[in-house]
Amino acid sequence: MARGLRDIVDCERLAEQGAVVERVYALADLPRVQDLLADLSGALRVRFAFAQTESGGAGVTIEADGGARLVCQRCMQPFEFPIAARSEIEFTTDRRADSQSSGREPFLLVEGRASLAELAAEELLLALPLVPACSELEGCGKAQAPRALEAAAVVLQQTTRPFRALQDLLKKTDRT
Ligand SMILES: [Zn+2]
Repeated sequence: MARGLRDIVDCERLAEQGAVVERVYALADLPRVQDLLADLSGALRVRFAFAQTESGGAGVTIEADGGARLVCQRCMQPFEFPIAARSEIEFTTDRRADSQSSGREPFLLVEGRASLAELAAEELLLALPLVPACSELEGCGKAQAPRALEAAAVVLQQTTRPFRALQDLLKKTDRT
C-alpha cells in the first residue's frame, strides 16, 4: 500500500469534486493478485479520475499501466507482461447491481467508501490474461525444451563411462 497516503476514500465526495488521484503500487502491496504472478517484482501506476456518471451516480475512470511477471502456461517460464488497462467504474451500494444499464463495471461501496488499492487490484485482475503465455512462440521455452532434452540424452549415451572421464580430468588437474 502506498504508505502515508490515504487508501480508503469517500468516492461520492471525490466524484462530486471531479477529483483525480494518482498512486503507484508495488505489486507486492496489492491484495489478491500475488497468486497470479511469477514473482512480486513490478509496479502499477494508477490514475483514478472520479466523476459523476450520466445517471448522476458516482463513478471513476481508472487507467493503469506498469508491468508484471507472469508464468507462461505453455513453457512454465516467467515472462514480462506489460499492463495497460482502462476501466469505467460505477459505484453502487446495491449488491445486485449489474453493468447492463450503464456499460460501466459496478463496484460496491461500503458506507460510501472504497479502497484505492482494492480498485487498483481489481483493475489489474481484469488486465491479466486468463491463460498467460509468452507473446512470441519463438521465445517460448517449450519449443526448445524437448530439443534440449534430446541433446542431453545424446551426450549421456556418448559418455559411456562418465566417471572414467571425471577421473582423467582429476588426474590432469593433479599434474598442474
Ligand atoms: Zn512460454
